[in-house]
Amino acid sequence: MKVLVPVKRVVDYNVKVRVKSDGTGVDIANVKMSMNPFDEIAVEEAVRLKEKGVVTEVIAVSCGDAKCQETLRTAMAIGADRGILVETTEELQPLAVAKLLKALVDKEQPQLIILGKQAIDDDANQTGQMLAALADLPQATFASKVEVAGDKATVTREVDGGLETIQLSLPAVITTDLRLNEPRYVTLPNIMKAKKKQLDTFKPEDLGVDVKPRLKTLKVSEPPKRGAGIKVPDVATLVDKLKNEAKVI
Ligand code: AMP
Repeated sequence: MKVLVPVKRVVDYNVKVRVKSDGTGVDIANVKMSMNPFDEIAVEEAVRLKEKGVVTEVIAVSCGDAKCQETLRTAMAIGADRGILVETTEELQPLAVAKLLKALVDKEQPQLIILGKQAIDDDANQTGQMLAALADLPQATFASKVEVAGDKATVTREVDGGLETIQLSLPAVITTDLRLNEPRYVTLPNIMKAKKKQLDTFKPEDLGVDVKPRLKTLKVSEPPKRGAGIKVPDVATLVDKLKNEAKVI
């Protein structure tokens, strides 16, 4: 059984991004980039399925510029068997990525596609769902537990107020939530091994996909600055302030 794991190169989650002065986006010049954290969880899950003997091959895919090779090498150091880079310098929006992934699903015929539930840069939470629709596959989003047996996957999902367990027939799309697993640290020997693994590169045109952006970002702004806290002398003053100043009760 093959598993396809899309991995996105994003600004590292520890970086505090700054909005560009003209409000057109965030400044990512010279900032540390890493694999999207939810995608690390997706790679880890696919590799664990391989270690359990359920899966035979884990293929990592990244769409973006040539530097996404680094992200693919990290996925291969975690344990993915090979990588596919869909190389383009165009801005890629979720629909374009979903179309590229659909073309790769047609080509590779994986039984499972495990994506992150969202990329921490655009926070779109769209690609997995769009891919499931385009490829006409069942989907389980926000997975906190995945079990695969035969041609079925049983997925526990994190939903508002609790957990939901659903069964899907394979092939299927799964998106990962934070609590699915804790990704392993990559070791130096595995980083060295990953350098020798197969990495194929395609252009969007090779896959017959038009990646032209469909949405235009009109404005990006910083969240409002938080005011300083104050000390209140007693409960009555606190209640009064919550009622009349903050207007939250
Ligand atoms: P999003 O819909 O942008 O929040 O992204 C959801 C998931 O789709 C990510 O966690 C990745 O697994 C996948 N994804 C999004 N963009 C890319 C990309 N450029 N390359 C590879 N995978 C991607």
